[in-house]
Amino acid sequence: MFGPKSHLTSRDSHLFMEDVDCFALAQKLGTPLYVTSESRLRENIRAYHRAFPGADKYFAVKANGNLSLLRIAAQEGMGADVFSAGELSVVRMAGIARDMILFNGNSKSSKDHELIMQAGVRMSVDSREELEHLSQTAQKSGLQGEILFRVNPDVSPKTHPKIATGLRSSKFGIPAEQVAATYQRAMELEGVKPVGLHCHIGSQILDTAPFAEAAGKMMDIAAAVTAAGGAIERIDLGGGLGIQYHPDSPAPTPADLAAAVLPIFKDRCRDLGISPKLILEPGRSIVADTTVMLASVNVVKRAHVSFVATDAGFNVLARPMLYDSYHHVVAANHSDEKAEETVTVVGPICETGDILAKDRKVPHLARGDVLAFLDAGAYGFSMASQYNGQPRPAEVLVSGSRAEITRRAEDASCLLTGQRILPRLMK
Ligand SMILES: *Cc1c(COP(=O)(O)O)cnc(C)c1O
Repeated sequence: MFGPKSHLTSRDSHLFMEDVDCFALAQKLGTPLYVTSESRLRENIRAYHRAFPGADKYFAVKANGNLSLLRIAAQEGMGADVFSAGELSVVRMAGIARDMILFNGNSKSSKDHELIMQAGVRMSVDSREELEHLSQTAQKSGLQGEILFRVNPDVSPKTHPKIATGLRSSKFGIPAEQVAATYQRAMELEGVKPVGLHCHIGSQILDTAPFAEAAGKMMDIAAAVTAAGGAIERIDLGGGLGIQYHPDSPAPTPADLAAAVLPIFKDRCRDLGISPKLILEPGRSIVADTTVMLASVNVVKRAHVSFVATDAGFNVLARPMLYDSYHHVVAANHSDEKAEETVTVVGPICETGDILAKDRKVPHLARGDVLAFLDAGAYGFSMASQYNGQPRPAEVLVSGSRAEITRRAEDASCLLTGQRILPRLMK
């Protein structure tokens, strides 16, 4: 029923994650609720290790910043791709070593630069202008840092336009033809040591061809840098591998990705006589299918269309609203029943666009039923907001028959964090 998602089964019409009954869990802990399978997470990481032995894998923390999940990633030998001081502090707390962290970003402050160099982690530099600022900051503060250059390889990833990041028109990276000169400039500057190249062409990519194209372009640039006397110690090809959200849209596996890019990487390295470390930055393909988001049905309204209104909206799961994304929906307490009604699943937020799933076939539903939104582990909780006075939900980790809270649900007091009524307004 759930294809390759072996951590999910249906037993007596209830959805189980490993040996945990999702409906019973929702009854016990309340909804909305994010629930993650530990075994699935470990298995997804190991699939990358098998496909890319010898490469470093940096988990893209923006996909999921849950501390316990990051700890598991650390235990399984992953590093981290971070984009902010906040993400850096979380991965350090999870026990990820400095040497396995890359700080990316197209808009870092001087304070960020200092913090990165003090922390002793590498960063990717997004522009010639950033390079000059960074060198000045390094000299002023007596610090130094190893840097990679973020390349804009001008590759179309054939994905949703909002998550294509390697197009010429994208805000990210240095135009391919300027990289070698920028690298040379970095070699002359104090306080910075260029050690490699980085790219990331987009997300939810369902075809390996764009990755192969990007790898080829990265190796062209590596050749130009090498010819100019630069040492390429690291080549980071980013993340972006898609997953199968829709039953009809299968995704390549890490092994398929390896088959597409490793021959190019290896052949070109041999030709150039260089042996850089290969780095990958998977986010979604590590964590998306590990997690379901559970929501309770409050109302079933039969109007011009049938609406099923749950207690989770785009405040909890933003992807459908943001990217028109598909999340498969399963009735957690009717999982074996025939889908006979077409409904639109909406949330409690005061916006017409608060739609989680459109025109879906579901079993007959009523108030109190629980829906599971599959593949919610990437860009799910990490994009949740408190919009409309909604505290953020709890997160749970499942292992066998164990279900443990890794992040407790917020309550109304969290909506007030940091706020005060000005005394002069109390008169
Ligand atoms: C978002 C991002 C990733 C991860 O992308 P996925 O599609 O989740 O694998 C990796 N690297 C960088 C620089 C990113 O911005």
